Amino acid sequence: MNRALHTITAIVGLTALTAMAGHAQNAPAAQVPGTTARQAIDAAAAALGGVDRLRAVRNITLMGYAQYAYQNGGGNISPLPGAPQKFIAANDYRRSYDLQNTRMLHQERRNDLFPFANYGGHSFALARQGLDGAEAYNVNAQGAVQRGGDARDRRMWFYTNPVTAVRAVLTGAATVANRRQQNGLTLVDLTLKEGDKMTLAIRPPENRPQWISWVAPQTNLGEVVLTTTFYGYQPYGGVELPMGYTTKMDWRDVDFKKLYIDGYLVDSDIPSLAATATFPAAPLGGTLAGPPQVGAGTLTAGRGFESLLPAPRTVGPGDAGRAGGAGRAGGPGAAADGQPIPVVNVARGVWRFGGGTIAIEFADHITLFEAGGGLARVKQVVAQARQLVPGKPVTQLIQSHHHFDHTAGLRQAVAEGLTIISRRDNGVIFKEMTDRKAPNFPDDLHRSGRTLRFLPVDDHLQLKDASMTMDVYRIIANNHIGDGVFAYIPEHKIYIEADIATAAEEIQWWGDSWLANIAHRKIDVATVVPVHMDIMTFEEADRMVRPGIQRVKDYCAEHIKKGNWFPGCPAFLR
Ligand SMILES: [Zn+2]
Repeated sequence: MNRALHTITAIVGLTALTAMAGHAQNAPAAQVPGTTARQAIDAAAAALGGVDRLRAVRNITLMGYAQYAYQNGGGNISPLPGAPQKFIAANDYRRSYDLQNTRMLHQERRNDLFPFANYGGHSFALARQGLDGAEAYNVNAQGAVQRGGDARDRRMWFYTNPVTAVRAVLTGAATVANRRQQNGLTLVDLTLKEGDKMTLAIRPPENRPQWISWVAPQTNLGEVVLTTTFYGYQPYGGVELPMGYTTKMDWRDVDFKKLYIDGYLVDSDIPSLAATATFPAAPLGGTLAGPPQVGAGTLTAGRGFESLLPAPRTVGPGDAGRAGGAGRAGGPGAAADGQPIPVVNVARGVWRFGGGTIAIEFADHITLFEAGGGLARVKQVVAQARQLVPGKPVTQLIQSHHHFDHTAGLRQAVAEGLTIISRRDNGVIFKEMTDRKAPNFPDDLHRSGRTLRFLPVDDHLQLKDASMTMDVYRIIANNHIGDGVFAYIPEHKIYIEADIATAAEEIQWWGDSWLANIAHRKIDVATVVPVHMDIMTFEEADRMVRPGIQRVKDYCAEHIKKGNWFPGCPAFLR
């Protein structure tokens, strides 16, 4: 282009842009009609199909598919912000809202969109969860109702929909107040008759709901604000409904859920969604599940492999007569209202709590390894660990890695005053997790006001005194844990680990990591003390891992033969 002409074009373009910007600034901003909160709801109701139509809606069935952030964003390869987010697909996603009776049935079929260690992670098993007024229930594969579940959580999702939320004010199921402006949107606060609060944002000039947000308790983070934004309204049965929902967390801006709509049925013939209803039996898994499933997440049947996990050997002090810790999953570990947790004395100065916390005795203190299983469990573990050896305080907690199942008691551990030991980068996420306040759902950490004390590990940290020597090593050769540690006690040849060999028995995607770490550190392992499984000899662990490696190869070969290339295939295994 001629240089002079280029300059002229640039000037003209700039002038045009300036003129457009000036015009936009001078135009009056669109406003949601009225001045009161109720008038804002009435405007939204008019935009969604009218007050009369919304009041008359009997039911809505939403159909589509969704993706969830794995472990709410706490299950990635690295603990740092920006690490590639793992997602779980939730297909065959349906949510029926019975608006006349305030009932809901939700169903979905999940499949991890990354390699996970059991067939259940890839089984598309049907999950069905219901709400009948104040009562939550689940529906099993046989169609039977089992009472239970988090009714508050389900109620909040019931109203996380523009039509059900606006209609709630019209029918008296909620009150509305506190109209205000924010970023061009009109915000109002809804208070459900059960007392729960949500904020609804309305966007002019069409006056449709833009987003709904509310606070939920969260074990790892204290509490989180979940904000669901609605996209692409389309008319169905005389009401406007969004074709996309994105739910974000107020931690790291995580995409908690992305929901894609195929369509809606409005006022169709739906079956009773009462907690007393019966539902049809449903096939469990899909075709990608490997061997036939006996149930979601349980050990597969018909493959001829049996668990090699032995019964616990001895029972520790304070738990005489309790043969705890048995079972593939590492034993019962949930504390119900301060019920004692079974403890196994593994060796001199080493105990394992059911549910997967290991206690190691030093000359003047106790160090714990892993704080999963929730706040109540870890509170109980710490209380019992303080009784293991009279006069020895519990002062430290080693965290194998940051995954949220393994850190579900981290906030409790910090509230208890423990110093946390882990790979250096895990300190970043642990600081974020423990700095968060939880004023709406206070936990012991919120009440204590304590903050994280952290001792970083780079490649190797030796904890040693007159009584005990324990090496803490960085994990290598592992595509499940990018930043993790395991522990080794030379005196007993004990290898304390999480998720290296024992994430699950079935499909050992990173099964080579088990021997790679032992070879790399030149350690002699006699006994494996895992977080997720029970205590094993080296030979037992090795005999468990090897067939799991073969099953990964079989799984990939089976599906590649059909032209299906799933994440993790072909397997990166020897
Ligand atoms: Zn794990």
